[in-house]
Amino acid sequence: MTAGTARGELFILSAPSGAGKTTLVHRAMELVDGVEFSISHTTRRPRENEKDGVDYHFVARDAFASMVATNRFLEWAEVHGNSYGTSVDEVLPRIESGTDVLLDIDVQGAAQVMAAGGAAGQLDTAVHSIFVMPPSPRALVERLRGRDLDEAPAIRQRLQGALGELGRVREYDYVIVNDRAEAASNTLAAIILEKRQRRERMRERVLSVLADFHAHGPFS
Ligand code: ADP
Ligand code: 5GP
Repeated sequence: MTAGTARGELFILSAPSGAGKTTLVHRAMELVDGVEFSISHTTRRPRENEKDGVDYHFVARDAFASMVATNRFLEWAEVHGNSYGTSVDEVLPRIESGTDVLLDIDVQGAAQVMAAGGAAGQLDTAVHSIFVMPPSPRALVERLRGRDLDEAPAIRQRLQGALGELGRVREYDYVIVNDRAEAASNTLAAIILEKRQRRERMRERVLSVLADFHAHGPFS
């Protein structure tokens, strides 16, 4: 981190599978500079269109377990029968260099980060949590089926989990209803941008402008 650069902040996105988190994350990153996606580790098998190191770090169960044992995860959880985790290495260097980080993680992992990963935790930065809701059950079913990436049993498992996940919306700071993807991703971008303008995060910039004024007064 260069002297005076504010630390990046953490943005957690959770939603029932198929609500559109991946879509919103990609669009928001096109709209806002200085924000990056944390690539999770998972024991799930890659889907046809997924690439190792891009969508996820795909690892075997024993490799995942050894990362758990050596405290390499900021959070991890079992979701739909597989393990998923956010490694400290994906997040901490970015936060330290002033880059904001987006986490697409489930409600269990989000609760772990909210409890331990904020200002008091090893990240030493602000954590903002955003829950993405599908506009209706019908839309969720259509999106999961329309995505055409999961087998029928996996889709059923994801739909069965949806109600429990939606019930935890109250734990989050922000809610975005993903009705139209463009509007929803604009809203996500707006939340990220708004956080950057808070006075405490602008502190170094403010001090530098003020110093300039003091050095060059009376502005001739
Ligand atoms: P998640 O990452 O939450 O599992 P995805 O981003 O993969 O969800 O979205 C699931 C499917 O729904 C994808 O086919 C995606 O193109 C589609 N989708 C996402 N947002 C919308 C939207 N606002 N309206 C219609 N379809 C959407
Ligand atoms: P999918 O298999 O559809 O990519 O993701 C299934 C679920 O796992 C989603 O709810 C997603 O948010 C969650 N997930 C992805 N990565 C992580 C992670 O690193 N940690 C946790 N706790 N959940 C994750």
